[in-house]
Amino acid sequence: QPEDIATPKRTNEVLKKHGLKLKKSLGQNFLIDQNVLNKIVGAAELDATKGALEIGPGIGALTQQLAKRAGRVVAIEIDQRLLPILEETLAPFPNASVVHGDVLEVDLGALFAEHFAGVSGVSVVANLPYYITTPIIMKLLQQKLPLENIVVMIQKEVAERMAAKPGGKDYGSLSIAVQYYCDPELVTIVPHTVFIPQPNVDSAVIRLKVRREAPVRTDDEAFFFDVVQASFVQRRKTIYNNLAARYFSKETKEQLGEVLASCGIDPSRRAETLGMDEFAALADALRRHLA
Ligand code: SAM
Repeated sequence: QPEDIATPKRTNEVLKKHGLKLKKSLGQNFLIDQNVLNKIVGAAELDATKGALEIGPGIGALTQQLAKRAGRVVAIEIDQRLLPILEETLAPFPNASVVHGDVLEVDLGALFAEHFAGVSGVSVVANLPYYITTPIIMKLLQQKLPLENIVVMIQKEVAERMAAKPGGKDYGSLSIAVQYYCDPELVTIVPHTVFIPQPNVDSAVIRLKVRREAPVRTDDEAFFFDVVQASFVQRRKTIYNNLAARYFSKETKEQLGEVLASCGIDPSRRAETLGMDEFAALADALRRHLA
């Protein structure tokens, strides 16, 4: 059995051996706690019939654990300097392969076809680079890849926003976007002390169970997301003011009152009080009105 990488001693040895200086600009905070790794891997519900896609393997701490559980592991890493290291640390795991590239540029559809054709389901499992957490999650969701779970370590505040229910300050367009595609569940909060180097913020592991069907029906998904985004442009303003600014002129904005009334939505409410079903009804009514 190869030695676990996620300890301070082993991680420092690997970094030293290869003379590697970690890059803050690439979000390189490496996990050095085996318990946290076990929680991440456990939440992904993997077995030998499943595939795992990792984003940002670093020196392979999580990749090794994934390769022990899943039938097939593919890890996308942007930093070329890590490739020879990964070759070494992943040598005992023939079911793991590394793709060099920027996850935001990689053609994930082609990657799935090439690497995951034989598996019964794929989950994304990663300790994400924090500078691009949201773009990565949105890319995974919008491409409607055949994913089962997305289990990721991210900044704690972002995890709270993804899982937020209506009514609080954390609830916004990110909550709705994520919850449209997934059922989110906070797995655990992680202190900044379990990384080398330590980030300035606390982290959380979140599991997004990808839904087979959206929880609400809308006539036009893109317009629904546009309405949600417009509604939160100025959080402290009413839904009426935000939507009037986006879709109406001074002369026509009275009609917005009728549209809101037709959905039973009080124009003085703020976006943060509206549930996803209300946004869906509102988007459809507004779309019909503007057509
Ligand atoms: N998985 C390792 C661990 O848990 O210790 C490293 C996680 S570290 C937080 C993030 C990793 O993502 C780094 O290895 C970094 O080089 C990589 N990365 C950063 N930006 C990336 C991008 N656009 N595409 C792919 N990988 C990226």
